[in-house]
Amino acid sequence: MLLELADILWRGLRLRCPCCGHGHLFESATRVLKRCASCQELFESEPGQWFGAIYINLGLTVGFVVTGYLLLQTFISLSTSQQINILTVGAVLGPFAFSESPKASGSASFS
Ligand SMILES: [Zn+2]
Repeated sequence: MLLELADILWRGLRLRCPCCGHGHLFESATRVLKRCASCQELFESEPGQWFGAIYINLGLTVGFVVTGYLLLQTFISLSTSQQINILTVGAVLGPFAFSESPKASGSASFS
């Protein structure tokens, strides 16, 4: 059970079909395929399916910004306004950078 769950999550993190692990989940950066090209599994969105993915994305972004803040404070001597500018860019771009993996993990966990 645990190995099966780990395998399904690994397939999701690789943006592959949670059922067979071969077909791709996305046809573009923001568009999910309707079916797996390999096993024909239907990738049907259910109401609220992305709810968990939003929290994963938010957590990754917060972790990215907090880690960036700690690294800037520890290793680089920048003014507070410079740090805020850098971290703001990270906070704005973070959700886009982490957008696919949480969706894929969410798809994998609900299949
Ligand atoms: Zn498949």
